[in-house]
Amino acid sequence: MSLASGLPTPIRKLLSEAELVLEAPYTRRIFTNRDLAFDRIPVIGFDMDYTLAMYRQDELEALSIRCTLDKLLERGYPEALRDIKSDPAFAIRGLVVDKKFGNIIKMDRHGYVGRAYHGKHLLPKPERKALYRSQRLGTERERFAPVDTLFALPEVTLFAEVVDWIDHRPEVWGGAGPPSYAQAWSDVRECIDKAHQDGSLKDLIQADIGRYFHIDPELGSTLHKFRSAGKKLFLLTNSLLPYTEHVMRYVLGGQLAAYDDWRDYFDWVIVGACKPSFFTGTAPFQELDIADRPIGKPVAEPRRGRIYLGGNQLGLQAALGVHGDEVLYVGDHIYGDIVKSKKSSGWRTVLIVEDLEHELDVRRDRHITLKEIEHLTSLRISLADDISAQRYLSRLLARMSPEELAQKGVAASEAEHMLVDTRAQVRKRFDRLRRYEEEVADTLERRIADVDEAFNPYWGSVFAARRDASRFGAQVESYACLYTSRVTNFRYASPTKYFHSPHGSMPHWHSIVK
Ligand code: IMP
Ligand code: MG
Repeated sequence: MSLASGLPTPIRKLLSEAELVLEAPYTRRIFTNRDLAFDRIPVIGFDMDYTLAMYRQDELEALSIRCTLDKLLERGYPEALRDIKSDPAFAIRGLVVDKKFGNIIKMDRHGYVGRAYHGKHLLPKPERKALYRSQRLGTERERFAPVDTLFALPEVTLFAEVVDWIDHRPEVWGGAGPPSYAQAWSDVRECIDKAHQDGSLKDLIQADIGRYFHIDPELGSTLHKFRSAGKKLFLLTNSLLPYTEHVMRYVLGGQLAAYDDWRDYFDWVIVGACKPSFFTGTAPFQELDIADRPIGKPVAEPRRGRIYLGGNQLGLQAALGVHGDEVLYVGDHIYGDIVKSKKSSGWRTVLIVEDLEHELDVRRDRHITLKEIEHLTSLRISLADDISAQRYLSRLLARMSPEELAQKGVAASEAEHMLVDTRAQVRKRFDRLRRYEEEVADTLERRIADVDEAFNPYWGSVFAARRDASRFGAQVESYACLYTSRVTNFRYASPTKYFHSPHGSMPHWHSIVK
């Protein structure tokens, strides 16, 4: 029920203009993993890229692939690779790259690999099982690269394409032959890293900025709403000042008359933060002017209203003047923004996952199929239980002898007959159950394939792996106090809201037999 229901219409209208009683659309809701009292949060920090500033992913991927390919070709990769195109559906967050075997894998919360591609080809089940049955990420860290941010998607797609070239067209590399998969990964990684750092990517983005960013017209009013509720805001980004200035001016500048400049929304601005080491290191803060020139010597604590380069979490915390759990940090990088900040500083966290809107759309459109999947899954589980009980019963009957029955008072002439009949009956039941289970399994597979195709044709849902959470979904659950698709979704939440987690149960808590 809405806060304003039952109030006179003119009052409702005024409240709605004051953005107090806006009803969040379905895809823009905020989800809670850990209870959070918003009125006990005096300070909110924001990451920039993919948090305040939302990229047009298709465009950025195409550009990242082009810039990275340029660098690979400079390194002697064959010209033929220039034709590689982006495929925005292929890579999703939470995947893991197996550098050694040229595979991209999706794991569930326990590290079980339920789907794998070699290059861009689905790995058949026997090969997947042979490679990953006992392989866990933790046992060979060097071999695996997790895909933690949307920035990493193009390098995954490019790597998969290069793997396919290595497999199917090795001759284009000429005499020296193609690189190993692991070498190709490190080449792709180094080249995209360089493209981020040497300006080749950012110059092109800045030259045509409207092509690479969405404008969210509600961003200014959302930040203003926080400020009017008395909260202090800071920006903490890894991007350097010239890029930050350009991007923030584009996504926020001119939105509200009360703010001349994007910096006026923030009490502290920290650029080039080097997260995640910002959260564990001791680097000092270097004040900058808006033209990116250093002012004075580095300091231990940032002052309000200034811009700083670098720094560390403890220094910032001291400047904020509040406890760690009174800071809410909003970011998109599950490791660099969320896991690290939560573990090392105790900050409360919000993860921005823009994929959530598509996920929720699919869940709504396919809710009947999803219900059916739930139902078929429990049916299959109970059939499997029955089948294994019948199998055990068959084994016991196979071992039972007419003499044993005679000892229980059955006439010797009947014992043999009784045993044969019972065995046949159990066998029949067993076969019937097996056939039924096969039918159920078949329908279940088809229904799952149908929704998976709608989530993502290569991988299914970003958050789920079969009946469980995906590795990414489990990380979101463990580390993000709240998660939502965009910062502006907070426009629909009152600044005094208590976010309640629906969790709080373990399998054994509801198992009491009455
Ligand atoms: P954020 O504002 O903290 O999200 O910082 C993102 C910054 O990291 C952007 O300036 C990106 O260009 C940069 N970045 C993302 N991926 C890479 C990389 O692989 N190497 C170097 N910089 C990166
Ligand atoms: Mg970011």
